Amino acid sequence: MTQHKKGLNTICTHFGEIEDKQFKGAISPLYMSSSYAFEDVDVKRYPRYFNTPNQEALSKKVAALEHAEAGLIFGSGMAAVSTTLMAFLKAGDHVVLQNALYGGTFNLVNEEFDKYGIEYSFTEGLRPEDFESKIKENTKVVYIETPSNPLLKITDLKAIASMAKQYGLVSMIDNTFASPVNQNPIAFGIDVVIHSATKYMGGHSDICAGAVATTTENIERIFHLAKNLGGSLSDQTVWLLERSMKTMGLRVKAQNENAQRMAEHLNQHSDIAAVYYPGLASHPDHELAKSQMHGFGGMLSFELNEELDASRFQKSLKLIKSSMSLAGVESTVLSPTQTSHALMGPEERERQGIKDGLIRFSVGIEEPEDLIFDIEQALQAVCLKQPISNH
Ligand SMILES: *Cc1c(COP(=O)(O)O)cnc(C)c1O
Repeated sequence: MTQHKKGLNTICTHFGEIEDKQFKGAISPLYMSSSYAFEDVDVKRYPRYFNTPNQEALSKKVAALEHAEAGLIFGSGMAAVSTTLMAFLKAGDHVVLQNALYGGTFNLVNEEFDKYGIEYSFTEGLRPEDFESKIKENTKVVYIETPSNPLLKITDLKAIASMAKQYGLVSMIDNTFASPVNQNPIAFGIDVVIHSATKYMGGHSDICAGAVATTTENIERIFHLAKNLGGSLSDQTVWLLERSMKTMGLRVKAQNENAQRMAEHLNQHSDIAAVYYPGLASHPDHELAKSQMHGFGGMLSFELNEELDASRFQKSLKLIKSSMSLAGVESTVLSPTQTSHALMGPEERERQGIKDGLIRFSVGIEEPEDLIFDIEQALQAVCLKQPISNH
């Protein structure tokens, strides 16, 4: 029989799990040992070597989810981002990065790379030619993030991957916003896929972790630096993350559906000036998103009409809490200007199209009617001082 490829929810539930041979328990046993007797001198298991039984098992699940040869689990998303970038860059090398980037990654590059002699350029936009125009003689890596934070812009995976191959660069993506449920960049030729597992993989706002999926050869290269930098994840959290990932397919699909509902509701609303969601036909990159994503994700952004006070609106929400993080089963909002993109400064924000009143919405799994009710009552609260509008 030819090998039967398992589907998403089967991989989420079972892949990589450790069989409990002793008691035949239903789930992977947790091995907390930091010391393992040598069986032979080649296998030295140790948490900081990323090779305890639980770490290895979860790496296999991540690799299977991203259709990659191998994976590695990290202590945070930023441990995964920093270790992976540094594993492919040395003094004198140059990296091209997308301008719309997770704040922590921007800070890593901006605050740290100079002292290691690593050169970098940020693109002006997200079109392939924006990346190509920044490539230099010493460029080694191209780094993207799609959908982008907070405006959900889409970068063309296939175009970036083939450009990277043409110039002999390693292509990397931060795939956190999409999750492996909605986007598998390796299928489009991207070399290295990075996740903040703190987000959709964890999904319950109680885990900080990271993950990388790529070829076995690349994983060896990343591991070589990872064991020296020491950003491994404790086995207890690895075990908890494995538990969380069993329901990732179900959670993210529910979040996709809810986000689409919210986007459509807000899009036809007379109090809302703009909605940014790749699942809307009016989104400028809708067709591109359709061609490279299985679902449009649980993240969207929107602007209230200018005369409405966005921060009062946020404070008036009762069910939907204001929160810095995202991707949990609970819905949350934040103001990029006041939080995630505060350090960027007003000029750069304006250049990227991030208005002061923009609200980023991480849509959870609650009943959509309850989310809409909460949004409506908050809008009424901020509209009270305004002349009555007839919506
Ligand atoms: C949160 C996040 C990170 C960083 O992950 P941590 O787990 O907080 O270190 C990186 N990229 C994106 C897109 C994120 O949302």
